[in-house]
Amino acid sequence: MMNELRKLKARLQLLGTTYKMKDRHREILFEASDRIDTIIYMMEKTECKSVYDLVVRLMKQEELINDLRKAKMLEVKKRLKKDCMDMEELQSYREIGSINELRELKRKDEPMKPRKGPYMYGDALYYCGNCGEHIGSRFISICCRWCGQKIDWGNYGEDI
Ligand SMILES: [Zn+2]
Repeated sequence: MMNELRKLKARLQLLGTTYKMKDRHREILFEASDRIDTIIYMMEKTECKSVYDLVVRLMKQEELINDLRKAKMLEVKKRLKKDCMDMEELQSYREIGSINELRELKRKDEPMKPRKGPYMYGDALYYCGNCGEHIGSRFISICCRWCGQKIDWGNYGEDI
C-alpha cells in the first residue's frame, strides 16, 4: 500500500515536471503529491494498513473529540448551574440573616420572666430579663420595648 502511494506520488511529480501544461494544472499535481506525503506520514504514524483504515481511524478520533467536547460542555454547564444555585442559596440565607441573628430572634421569641423591682404607688416595677431595661408595671406590654424580648408575665394573679 505504502509503495503504491509512493509510486503514485513519483508519477505525479514526473508528470508535473516533464509535460507541458498550464501552471494551474501543474500546481494541482504538486498539491496532490503533497497530500499523498501527508497520507503516508499519517498512515505510518497511526500504523494503518490502508487509506480506508486511516479514514476510519480519523473519523473515530473526530467522534471521540466531539464526544469529549460535549461531555466537557455538559460538565461545565452543570457546574455553572450548581454554582448559580449555591449563590442563590447563600443570597437567600443572607437575606434571612445569619445563624446567630436567627438564634437571637428565636431566643427573644421565647417568653422570659422579667425581673421584679421596687414598688411604686402599690405596683411593682419590672425590668426586662434580657436587657435589664425598665418595662413598666405588670401586663403593660407583651415585649420589651427596648430589645424586643417576649415577656412571660405568668398567670393573672400569680406573683412573679
Ligand atoms: Zn429588653
